[in-house]
Amino acid sequence: MSGSDGSGATRVVPVPDDLSREFWTAAAQGRLVVRRCADCGTFHHPPRPLCPSCRGADCPFTEVSGRARLHSWTRTEHSVLPALAVPYVCLVVELVEQEGLYLVSDGIGLELGELRQGMAMHVVFDASAGELTLPRFVP
Ligand SMILES: [Zn+2]
Repeated sequence: MSGSDGSGATRVVPVPDDLSREFWTAAAQGRLVVRRCADCGTFHHPPRPLCPSCRGADCPFTEVSGRARLHSWTRTEHSVLPALAVPYVCLVVELVEQEGLYLVSDGIGLELGELRQGMAMHVVFDASAGELTLPRFVP
């Protein structure tokens, strides 16, 4: 699926499936949720059918704060998909709720010079991509 962010750039957005639909529904409501195991309390993302820690199957989506630290980032200069406008910045953030709980975010509008590893980030909800509201992280 693709859409435009209003700047003329084409964006490729995910297609919800049975495992991720609740994540996208919550994002459309301005809430960031990730699955959390009811047995051991471990958060995990992206959504998986079983807890990666204890293999528990009861992992309801749980609202998190939306606060994170920048873990890593890259700027892509060469398009791997014809519809994907380059260059773009891609971020990996670590949510404050748990060490190793990472989310990938686009970094549209961010410049590499303003990014520092460990910098505080927070979620915003971007409804400009078409049918999906995208959780994005900004400083
Ligand atoms: Zn578990």
